[in-house]
Amino acid sequence: MIGFRLPVSELRVTLRQPGGAEDMLLAEASDCDVGLALALASALARSAQGEAIAWEALPLTDLDATLLRIRQMVIGDLVRTDIQCPAEGCGERIDIAFRVTDYLAHHQPRKPRGIERDREPGWFRMTNPDVSFRPPSGADQLAIADEPEGARLLAERCIRPADAPARVRRRVEAAMEALAPSLYGKLDGTCPVCAATVRIPFDPQRYVLLELRAQATSLYEEVHLLAGHYKWSEQDILALPRLRRTRYAELIHAERSAG
Ligand SMILES: [Zn+2]
Repeated sequence: MIGFRLPVSELRVTLRQPGGAEDMLLAEASDCDVGLALALASALARSAQGEAIAWEALPLTDLDATLLRIRQMVIGDLVRTDIQCPAEGCGERIDIAFRVTDYLAHHQPRKPRGIERDREPGWFRMTNPDVSFRPPSGADQLAIADEPEGARLLAERCIRPADAPARVRRRVEAAMEALAPSLYGKLDGTCPVCAATVRIPFDPQRYVLLELRAQATSLYEEVHLLAGHYKWSEQDILALPRLRRTRYAELIHAERSAG
């Protein structure tokens, strides 16, 4: 088990390794969206006291940081991605690599001046002018998905009064970004051949879910192998941690290729 502190709510969280149930959840999800992120975090992350966490109510920053921590635990700290050089006639592969640890350190929350915690949990207060707000949560992201007026809806949910003047709203948005920085970021790379620079968007939520889902799809083959070989039930195989299930499948493969 791995423990860490959520960046915004400062809640202490422990993570456990995914098992068959979580791999099934990933493999059978229709979309790598916030709904899947919330389901995965609920399954793998609990409070340090072992209690369930109301993930949908926590800031998105905390949810996305947790997904990156899950990625770090399951796959590793180093994220490597690549893009084809867009310069005309080049097309070389540009490698972009970074560490989850550094990425999270770079997106640490800051406390802006003139902002205090409100009485209501999760809410903050700006005293001059008097405005209350809270950083967007997973529930907000779910509520505004596919909504054409998403920005207005989000303001109604997260800012009181919602009809604050644009100038005040901009200050609130800047304070929110400082208190709960969006982990959606940009990655920079340089072409090793023509030195062209590229900047690509990085959405940790979607990236991590796609990566974990790609790994989880071996679940079916592993259940098939283990059930046939050991005569175990699907339920028993799904109860194994992912690592152990994969090892058994490797052993069966090794035995077959040796024979
Ligand atoms: Zn190039």
